[in-house]
Amino acid sequence: MQEHVELFVIGAGSGGVRAARMSAQYGAKVAIAEEFRIGGTCVIRGCVPKKFMVYAGAYGQGFEEAKGYGWLADNVRFDWPTLIAAKDVEIDRLSGIYRCNLGNAGVEMIEERAKLAGPDTVRLVPSGRIIKCDKILIATGGTPRKLGFAGEEHTITSNEVFNLPKMPGHIVINGGGYIACEFASIFAGLGARVCLIYRRDTVLRGFDDDVRTHIHNELIRQGVRVITHANITGVKKTGEGLSVHLDTDVQIDCDEVMMAIGREPATDGLGLAAAGVNTARGGAVMVDEFGQSSVPGIFAVGDVTDRIALTPVAIREGAAFADSEFGGRRHAFDHRDVASAVFTQPPVGSVGLSEHEAREQFGEVDIYRSSFRPMRHALSGSAEQYMMKLIVRTQDQVMVGVHIISDAAPEIIQIAAIALKAGLTKAQWDETCAVHPTAAEELVLMREKFTPPTKRNPG
Ligand code: NDP
Repeated sequence: MQEHVELFVIGAGSGGVRAARMSAQYGAKVAIAEEFRIGGTCVIRGCVPKKFMVYAGAYGQGFEEAKGYGWLADNVRFDWPTLIAAKDVEIDRLSGIYRCNLGNAGVEMIEERAKLAGPDTVRLVPSGRIIKCDKILIATGGTPRKLGFAGEEHTITSNEVFNLPKMPGHIVINGGGYIACEFASIFAGLGARVCLIYRRDTVLRGFDDDVRTHIHNELIRQGVRVITHANITGVKKTGEGLSVHLDTDVQIDCDEVMMAIGREPATDGLGLAAAGVNTARGGAVMVDEFGQSSVPGIFAVGDVTDRIALTPVAIREGAAFADSEFGGRRHAFDHRDVASAVFTQPPVGSVGLSEHEAREQFGEVDIYRSSFRPMRHALSGSAEQYMMKLIVRTQDQVMVGVHIISDAAPEIIQIAAIALKAGLTKAQWDETCAVHPTAAEELVLMREKFTPPTKRNPG
């Protein structure tokens, strides 16, 4: 007899698991297929292990700073295998919880590759099982982009970096986005020599320009050698390690080369075209606000679509899908004002528009900006700088962008995002009394509009 489910989910990452679990809890017969490990990129080789490495790297700076406070932290050493083993135990535990939650909800877990065999059918590989489905949800996520230069097979990506057998003494990282900047900071904090190769002039394109300049300078302050306007043209194995060749004729010898040049939707070999599913350039599944593709019964959520590639967004899209299709509550996730963090040292928290975007949309905006050395560093001796920036729409004084660089920025921005989404004005923001002594108090104390330096007023 033909096997049948009401929902088949392809990919057990954050978005897929949330959609499968909730749909099953609404009473649907659900199966989910995963070819790698339950938990997906975020849990297995993304946000979660990265955050452990961020914590590990921050201790490096912490030990240095503690000396200013009287701690004698001599002979401090870092042991990479200890970190990797501890991280693996925790990842196994989390993957187990995902598995358990799916099982408890009654979702059938299939550890095979699933392909579309038609608009309402999936085929499993290698077993060859064929399953008829009322609805199919594609939640296969993304995969690191490749460039195809000679010797690229000697390089690693964020897929491999979490399981290197030993810590690189000297790592070259290619890219200037989230992953490149975060890992440059992590490895610098762990004591490695780090060289960042970026094809343009300032990292973190897409963020507010002041954030970009600040983080670019902080990476350099951390000891990262930043080479701009350069691309890797080849990597060769040498007796000792690797030799990287740039299009600027520079050659760098190192132990590892990490490519962090973006991620692409994981749609290769899924059978989308044959099933009639339209994709954008780059392979992303094109969907409407409810996640529906060009085929009525086929949906997609998360990084495999061309929207915002962040775990909490995939989770909310997955939840909205389950509510709409099986829970009797049709709604779409609102993609506006999603906050994000970049876990550099110091980290970034950002929500809403950049100054550039706000000027383009509204013409006139008021800028409040403050860069300062945090109190902690009065004794630590560190030259690290924080930055806070508020962007206010002049016409009605509504806050349209908040950008924070500080040790607690990823935590603070969560609350700032609530204020921003609630549409508060600068005056309402300012009514809030400061918490003293903190770095965050600066956010409610900025009263002077920032005027960019001009020829008459060189700043
Ligand atoms: P990003 O899109 O953030 O950055 C990609 C970088 O690679 C950019 O600097 C880009 O340069 C550069 N690049 C792209 N193509 C090439 C090329 N052909 N040659 C050289 N350089 C190139 O991607 P990431 O890989 O860093 O991360 C992928 C996504 O994962 C992020 O966009 C984010 O959504 C998510 N993520 C989120 C994290 C978080 O929330 N903290 C952490 C990690 C990832 P250019 O600027 O010129 O385009």
